[in-house]
Amino acid sequence: MAGVWVLAENRDLTIELLNIGRDLADKVSARLTAFLPGDRDRGQEYIDCGADEVLVLPALNPEQTVDAYIPVIVDEGRREQPDIFLLSGTLRGRELAARIAARLDTGLCSQCTALNIDEKTGLLVMERLIFGGAGIQKVVCQTRPQMATIAPRTFEPARRQNREGKIRELPASPESAVKILERKPKDRAAGSITEAKVIICVGRGIEKQEDLALVNKLAAATGGEIGCTRPIAEELHWMPEDTCIGLSGKQVKPELYIGVGISGQIQHITGIRDAKVICAVNNDDQAPIFDAADYGIVGNLYEVLPELTRQLEKITNK
Ligand SMILES: Cc1cc2nc3c(=O)[nH]c(=O)nc-3n(C[C@H](O)[C@H](O)[C@H](O)COP(=O)(O)OP(=O)(O)OC[C@H]3O[C@@H](n4cnc5c(N)ncnc54)[C@H](O)[C@@H]3O)c2cc1C
Repeated sequence: MAGVWVLAENRDLTIELLNIGRDLADKVSARLTAFLPGDRDRGQEYIDCGADEVLVLPALNPEQTVDAYIPVIVDEGRREQPDIFLLSGTLRGRELAARIAARLDTGLCSQCTALNIDEKTGLLVMERLIFGGAGIQKVVCQTRPQMATIAPRTFEPARRQNREGKIRELPASPESAVKILERKPKDRAAGSITEAKVIICVGRGIEKQEDLALVNKLAAATGGEIGCTRPIAEELHWMPEDTCIGLSGKQVKPELYIGVGISGQIQHITGIRDAKVICAVNNDDQAPIFDAADYGIVGNLYEVLPELTRQLEKITNK
C-alpha cells in the first residue's frame, strides 16, 4: 500500500487531518504524508503530529491562486499512487478535491463524518450524513486514491510527540490559467462560518437590517462569525446567502453557537447539531430552539444582546 495523504489549507486543519490520517495509516500499515503549502518551517510539527513525510508545496507568487498546486499534486499522485487522500472540507478544499479527483480519474466522497477501514477488504469506508442528517450513508470507492473531504473540526487535533520523518520539496508550480488581478478585503459578514469556532446566528426576531449592528458587536466581543436563518438570507436579503445555516444552508461545528431571535425549526437545527455548546436568546419560552439549547435566555434580544456584549467585553478587557 502506497500511503495515506492529507492536504489542508492551514495548520489547524492539517493537524486535525493528521489525527485521522495517522489512525488509518496505522490500520493499513501505510506511510502518512502531509502537504505543506509554502512554509517549510512547519514540517517538523507535522511530523511530530504523525506524518512520516511532509511534501512542501512551493510558495505562490502574488498573482497565483492555490489552483496552481493542482498540477503539482496530480503529478505527485500519478507517481506515488497513494491509496487514501483526505482533504479539508472548506470551500477551497472541496474545490481542490473535486478537481484533483477528476484529473486522477477517481471518486470523491464529500463531507465525511467518519472514516474506517473494512477489515475484510481493506477498503476505506466513508460515512456521510444524508437527508438533512436523518440518515448515514456508507461509501466505498473502487478506484485509487480513495478520496474524501472532511469538514473542519470533525476530528480532534493530533497530539504532538517527538517523531522522525522526511521533508521533501516539490517542484515549482507551472503557470496557472487563473491569475489574481485585484484583492479586496472580505466583508466581515462573509467570513467562513464553517470554520468559525464561535457563531452568532441571527433570525427573524431582529426587526430591521440596521439592528444587525447589535449582532456584529456581540460577534466582535466573542471573536465569532455571524450566521443567519434562511428568511434573513433568502427572503429579506439582509445577509449573504453563504451565511445561512441549516438544511439548505451550511452545516456548522462551532465550539459555541448563540442563536438570537431564532425559533429553532428542524430545518435550521439540522445545521447546528454538531455545535459543542448551543445558547439561545428568544422572548418566547416555548420556542423549539430551547429544546436543542444547552443554555437559554428568555428575553428580548434588544435588551439581552447589549448586556451580553458589555459583560463579555468586561471579561476580555476590550
Ligand atoms: C425545504 C426547506 C428548507 C429549509 N432550509 C432552511 C435552512 O437551511 N435554514 C433555516 O434557517 N431555515 C430553513 N428553512 C426555513 C425554516 O423552516 C424556518 O422557517 C426558519 O428557520 C425560521 O427562521 P427564524 O427562526 O429566523 O424565524 P421565525 O420562525 O419567524 O422565528 C423568529 C423567532 O424570533 C423570536 N423573537 C421575536 N422577537 C424577538 C425579540 N425581540 N427578542 C427575542 N426573540 C424574538 C420569536 O419568538 C421567534 O421564535 C427551510 C424550510 C424548508 C421548507
